[in-house]
Amino acid sequence: MGSGVTKLLWPSQKSRERGVFKVYDSLIFMKLNKNQAQEKIEEFFSNLENKTPEQVRKIKKLAMTYNIKLKNKRKLFCQECYFTKLKTLGIKNKVKRVRCLNCSRIYRWKAKD
Ligand SMILES: [Zn+2]
Repeated sequence: MGSGVTKLLWPSQKSRERGVFKVYDSLIFMKLNKNQAQEKIEEFFSNLENKTPEQVRKIKKLAMTYNIKLKNKRKLFCQECYFTKLKTLGIKNKVKRVRCLNCSRIYRWKAKD
């Protein structure tokens, strides 16, 4: 295989480590109910093209605040720097490898189907 340099990061693990966030940051979202928050998240991810890492970071916090699972949407941005440009390196044995074009971190995600 010879992929010894690959740093394997499981996003779910990483996001748990980062579970602590500043309370006041989440207060701006408090006026939304859960459905509205969900809609906001759906809308955000339906057009990710011109989103900045800061916006991604905020929407992730919004999801966390409302306990909304991002599921596959998590794979649309880098878990480390929230950059939205991820390059697919290839799919092997149903495992998809993508690299963040900003911090060069490599993620491996199980590709379903
Ligand atoms: Zn990154």
